[in-house]
Amino acid sequence: SDTLDVVIRVGLTGGIGAGKSTVAKTFIERGAYHVDADKIAREVVEPGTPGLAQLVEAFGPEILDEAGALDRPSLAARAFADDDSRKLLNSITHPLIGARTQELTDAAPTGSIILHDVPLLVEGHMAPFYHLVAVVHTDADVRLDRLVNLRGMDVDDARSRIAAQATDEQRRAVADLWLENSGAPEALAAQAVAAWDERLIPFRDNVASGTAAPMPTDVVSYDPEWAALGQRVVNRIWALVGGNASAVVHEGPTSVVGQAAAPVVDIAVTVSDFSVADSLAEALAKGGFPLVSSTHDERLHASADPGRHVRVHVRA
Ligand code: ADP
Repeated sequence: SDTLDVVIRVGLTGGIGAGKSTVAKTFIERGAYHVDADKIAREVVEPGTPGLAQLVEAFGPEILDEAGALDRPSLAARAFADDDSRKLLNSITHPLIGARTQELTDAAPTGSIILHDVPLLVEGHMAPFYHLVAVVHTDADVRLDRLVNLRGMDVDDARSRIAAQATDEQRRAVADLWLENSGAPEALAAQAVAAWDERLIPFRDNVASGTAAPMPTDVVSYDPEWAALGQRVVNRIWALVGGNASAVVHEGPTSVVGQAAAPVVDIAVTVSDFSVADSLAEALAKGGFPLVSSTHDERLHASADPGRHVRVHVRA
């Protein structure tokens, strides 16, 4: 049949204590394929792994407990002592985590909606590599209260962890889906259910069948968020086309500051000739932007995500 071998990668993030676990649980109950970043980070340094051996070589046998497992406080005391130690730690763990994440992602069956919950997605500049980034948001003072009173965390520890992470503005800039967790946990779960049923499932089905989501045509007043949305899509298109394009630009009505427009982001991708455009068609389609038409001067792709309207004009 005409279906593509596809998966949808959803990156889930939010500040510590924001409520990621509630959202992850809701998605997993509905069938998401879970790639758990915290679990992977633990697995790659389990006893007997090359990862743990490398850490011992770098930081000494004092980082092991009596059973030969990693003693995290002891490692933290050494690895977070200065910038060089922190870099050394990351240079050991990050490639191992990356390889294991890739391996698990590659193993997802066709049609999977992959849920990758990554606390540091924003800090790691990973947003463009997902079909959709979901951000769970709770005000920092509420998070602090929950971490201390519900999770039993030390107040200074909780405060310094919150301060070390990305800001709400940085998270907002990459969010395709924004989930508010200022009310009851049930209210957050209800938002996650709606997102799953009304957005992620149709998105996945559209990508699988190579279908664009319907485009709104009604003109609305200018939205200051359009610039950030345009930048977010530009970054994502760059991630899909890589060095095959010479320019990727937000253009058209939504790129004009202050102007009313139908809420559709137009992206111009410049390539050297149409054979390059055609060679990019499958990557764009798998990435969420199926081909909708070909004319003498452009290949038009459009977003399969029913919650974010994008036209991609590939021109020579
Ligand atoms: P994260 O995974 O983003 O770090 P969690 O999902 O573990 O955050 O939530 C942090 C703490 O706050 C947990 O103890 C959780 O049970 C609690 N919590 C989450 N959402 C709510 C809510 N809406 N109301 C009250 N407590 C909540």
